[in-house]
Amino acid sequence: MRHAALLFLITLSAILLGAPSLSAQPASAQPASADPSTDLSPDKEAELISEARQITFDGLRAGEGYFSGDAKRMVFQSERDPANPFYQIFLMDLETGDLQQVSPGQGKTTCAWIHPSGDRVLFSSTHHDETSVEKQNELLELRRTGKQPRYSWDYDPEFEIYERLDDGTYNRLTEAVGYDAEASYSPDGTQIVFASNRAAYSEPLSPRETELLKTDKSYFIDLYIMNADGSNVRQLTDVNGYDGGPFFSPDGARICWRRFSEDGTTAEIYTMATDGTDVRRLTNIGAMSWAPFYHPSGDYLIFTTNRHGFGNFELYCVRADGQGQPVRVTFTDGFDGLPVFLPGGDRIAWTSNRTAEKRSQIFLGNWNDAEVRKRLGLTDQDDADRQAALDAAEESSPQFTPADIARHVDYLTRPELEGRLTGTEGERRATAYVAAYLESLGFVPAGESGTFFDEFQFPAGCSLTDNNTLTIGDQTGTLNEDWRPLSFSADGQIEPTEVVFAGYGMRVPASEDSPEYDSYVHLNVANRWVMVFRDLPQDITPERRQQLARFSSPRRKATFARDLGAKGIIFVAGPTSKVQNELIRFDSTASAGVSIAAISITNAMAGKLFSESDGDLKEQQTQLDDGSLAMGYILEGAKVGTTIEIERKTGTGRNVIARLPAGESTAPSYPFVMVGAHVDHLGRGSGSNSLAKDDERDLIHQGADDNASGVAAMLEIAQYLADEKRAGRLNANRDLVIAGWSGEELGLFGSQAFIESFETLYPDAPKAEIDEEAERAARAHGMTTNAAPLTSAIAAYLNLDMVGRLREKLVVQGIGSSPKFESLVNRRNVPVGLSLTLDKTSTRLPTDASAFVARDVPILSAFTGAHEDYHTPRDTKEKLNYEGAASTARLFALIARGMLTDADVPEFKLDEGEKQQDEVPRARLTAYLGTVPDYAAGKIKGLKLSGVAGEGPAAKAGVQGGDVIIELAGKKIEDIYDYTYAIEALKIGEEVGITVRRGDKEVPLKITPSSRD
Ligand SMILES: [Zn+2]
Repeated sequence: MRHAALLFLITLSAILLGAPSLSAQPASAQPASADPSTDLSPDKEAELISEARQITFDGLRAGEGYFSGDAKRMVFQSERDPANPFYQIFLMDLETGDLQQVSPGQGKTTCAWIHPSGDRVLFSSTHHDETSVEKQNELLELRRTGKQPRYSWDYDPEFEIYERLDDGTYNRLTEAVGYDAEASYSPDGTQIVFASNRAAYSEPLSPRETELLKTDKSYFIDLYIMNADGSNVRQLTDVNGYDGGPFFSPDGARICWRRFSEDGTTAEIYTMATDGTDVRRLTNIGAMSWAPFYHPSGDYLIFTTNRHGFGNFELYCVRADGQGQPVRVTFTDGFDGLPVFLPGGDRIAWTSNRTAEKRSQIFLGNWNDAEVRKRLGLTDQDDADRQAALDAAEESSPQFTPADIARHVDYLTRPELEGRLTGTEGERRATAYVAAYLESLGFVPAGESGTFFDEFQFPAGCSLTDNNTLTIGDQTGTLNEDWRPLSFSADGQIEPTEVVFAGYGMRVPASEDSPEYDSYVHLNVANRWVMVFRDLPQDITPERRQQLARFSSPRRKATFARDLGAKGIIFVAGPTSKVQNELIRFDSTASAGVSIAAISITNAMAGKLFSESDGDLKEQQTQLDDGSLAMGYILEGAKVGTTIEIERKTGTGRNVIARLPAGESTAPSYPFVMVGAHVDHLGRGSGSNSLAKDDERDLIHQGADDNASGVAAMLEIAQYLADEKRAGRLNANRDLVIAGWSGEELGLFGSQAFIESFETLYPDAPKAEIDEEAERAARAHGMTTNAAPLTSAIAAYLNLDMVGRLREKLVVQGIGSSPKFESLVNRRNVPVGLSLTLDKTSTRLPTDASAFVARDVPILSAFTGAHEDYHTPRDTKEKLNYEGAASTARLFALIARGMLTDADVPEFKLDEGEKQQDEVPRARLTAYLGTVPDYAAGKIKGLKLSGVAGEGPAAKAGVQGGDVIIELAGKKIEDIYDYTYAIEALKIGEEVGITVRRGDKEVPLKITPSSRD
C-alpha cells in the first residue's frame, strides 16, 4: 500500500518539477479511474477563464500565489537561488512589477499568506535548523547525480510558522517539533489556521505508527487553529490520514480543506465551522481532489482533481452547500492546481505547467463568475424556483383543489423549464421546486448526504467518432455511404478477418407446429465475421413470420453470433428486401452495447464480398426467401477489417427524496410508505420516444399530463398528510417517503438507481434474507440483479404517472400485487366516488413501479389513459381535467393514509390472472404501424386507440384516435395481445387490410406497414 504512496509522490514531483509545494500537496494516491470525458478544449476553458497569462517567469518553478486584500500584491514561493534547491518566499507588487524576497534565504520555506492589514507576511520556514545548509547541498548533489533521495524531503519536522513584518524582522509563532505549515489568516486577521503533525512527536505512538512516521509523515497531519500571535492553539481535526491545505471562508465562519483517505489513495474536499464542528464533505469523486479555495462570495469553491487521469490535474468548482455536481473549469493536459480567486472575485490565479518548458508557473486570468454560477445552479433563478415553491405552498390549501393542481402544473410546464429533460437545467429547476415545496411542508431530507436529492448516472446518448474505418479486401468503405456501425456495437479494431455467410442469422427452436430454424447448423463462426440478411425471409407464411419475428431484430441476431464466438456481425438488407434504408439507422439514444462488433453494409458492398468468392447475393437471398434453410459457408477470399469507435456519454440526473417522520423524532421508522411521480419529461423531443409530427420537431414537450399532473397530485398528497400530522390527526405507524423521480422517460433510470442504492442510502433499514428464487425471477425480467426483497423496508409504493386526462375511468394498476388491494382501493374510493378500472394484469408495465415490484414491494399506480397528444408538444396544460386530477390525488392520499396508520402492511403476492404467461418481454416488432392504444378503454372487444403517431402508416391509412381496431390482416383483434401477434406476422411494405369500428360503423381501410429503422 505504501509503495503506491511513494510512487505517487515521485510522479507528482516530476509533474511539478522537483519537490512539490507543501501546503496543498497530496500525500499519496493510486491512479484515479479516468473519467470518460477527457477531451481537452481551449474553447471550453475560455468559457470560464479568459485572457489567461503567465505572471511568474523566473526560476526553476514557482507556485502558490496568494493575494493581498487590495489585490495589489501577490506572495508566492519560487526556487531561484542556484545555491538553494528549496523554495523561498517572494512578494510581487502587481502595479509596478517590483519583486522582493521576504524569506531569509536559508533552508526550506513554504506556504505564505499576506495579513489583511497588509503589514506582514506569514510563512513556514526551517531557517533556524542548523543542518539546513547541509540539506541544501545534499539535494543539489542528488540532482547532479540523478539519484533518487533515500527519504522524502517533505514534512520536515523543523518547519515552524513565522511572520515577517514590514521592517524586515521575523517573529516565530510556533514552537513544536513536527511539521507546522499551510497557514493562513482569518479574514479579520485575528486567527491562523494551519496543518501540523506535532502530535506524532509529542504523544506515544504504537509500534506500527512509529514505523509509519518514518515513511509517511503526512498520515499524522491534522488541522489546528491559533490566535494570530501564536497563542491559544486548538486542534480541529483528529482522524487518520492527511488533513491539510486549510483556508477560511470569506466570512470567517468556516474552514475548507482536503482530507485524504486513511490509505492515502483518494482525497475529497471538506468544510467545517472554525471550532471543528459541523463537518461537511462537498465532493465524492473518488480521485485525488485537493487545494480547495473559496470564491469571495462564499457561494462556491474551486479545487483541483485528477479524476481525468493520474497526471492530469484539472480545476473544478463545487457549491459551498455541496449540492449538485462539480463543474469542470480547465481543459488543458498536465497540471492545473492550487487555484485562488483574487479579492473581488473576477480574476483567478493558479499554478500550471502549461509553459513551453513544462515547468510550473503562476497564471492569471479573468473569471466568469456569472457563467459558473449558472452551471452550479447558483443563479437568481434558483431563488426564483424556491420562491415559486414557497408561494405555491402559501396559497395551497390542504384540501384537494383543482386550483392547487393547476398551480403546480403551471410551474412545471413553463417554457423556462424546457420540457424537464433528465440531466438538464430544466430538470434541475423542476426538482429544486419539488424539494423546496416538500421542505416547506416539514419534510426532512432523505436523499444522499443529508440532502433532498439522489443523483444517478444515465447513458446520455452515443455518437460515431471520426475514427471508424472499414476495409474489404484492398478497398475501403466510406462511413455512412457504404457502411455504418450499429449503435449497440462493441468498440475496437478487427484486423482483416474471414467472413462466414449465415443466411438470415437466426436460431429459432421448433414449436408444436413449426420446425426449427437454425442458420448456424454445422457452421464454425468462431473468431470470424458472420454476415447475415436483415429481418426475415421475404416470402414465408404469416404464421411462420409470426413465429420467427421475435428472433429477427439486429440485436437478437448479434447475440446469436456473439454466443457462437464470432468476432463481429455484418448486416445486409439484400436485393429482395423492402427496407427504407440499406444501412441500419444509428440510434444515438441507444444505451447498452452488445459485446460484439456489429455493422451494416450496402448491398453493393456485400455484392463485392460475394463476388470475391464467386457467389451471388441475390441468388442466395432468393433461395432463402421461401423459408427453406441453406447451409452457410465461408466467403473464400473475402476479408473484412474494421475500426469501430462509438462515444457513449454519461449524464447525471437527480431524484427528489423527502421523508415525513411518523412521530416527533426524525429517526426513520420502517417500513416506509412511498408515493412517487416522475418529474422529468422529453425536453424538446430529441430522443426516439417523442411522437411529434415532423412540423412539431424541436418544440418543447411540456408534458402537462406526462407527468406534471402526477407530480402535482403527489405534492397535494404530501401536503394533505403533512397537514393531518400537524393537526394531530395522523397516528402513523411508519414514515411517508415522497419521491420525485427523474430519468423515467429515458428508461426508468431514477427509480432503478434509487432501488439499487437503497441499502446504501438507508443502511439501518431492516434487511430481508435473499430469496434465490425471487432473484432468478427478477433477473428473468431484466429488472435488477440485487433482488433481496425490500418488503421489510418499504411497505408499499404508490405511483402517479399521467393522471391529468380523466375521462370516464381512472385506471388503477398493480391490483395484482397484493391480495387485499381490490377491496382496499374500493373502500378508500367510497368517499371519493371515482369510476375505476382495477387492473390486475399489468403490474409489470414499465413504470417507476417496476423496480419496486422486482423487489417484492406491493404497488398501485394511477393512470388516466393514453391519448393522441401523448409524448408530443400538444400535451399542454389547458387540456387537463383538473377536477379529475384532484380526485385522483384524494383517492391515493386516502390509500396512503390507511397504509401509514394501519397496524399491518399489505402482503406482497403477485396474482395477475390468466394473462400472466404473456408478460414476457417481447422482441421489438419489426413492422411499424404508429398506433397509440388507449389503456383506459376498459372492457371492450377490439383495440381502442387514443391516437395515431405523426406521419405513421396508421395516419396515412386514415385510422384515427378513438377508432377501435377489430381486424388486422385478416385476423380478429379482441385485445392488445391479438393485436401484437397480428403485427408480428406483417411484412414491411406489403399492404394489408385493417378494419376499425368508428362510432357504430365498421370502416375497412388499407395499411402499409413500414420499418422502424
Ligand atoms: Zn412519458
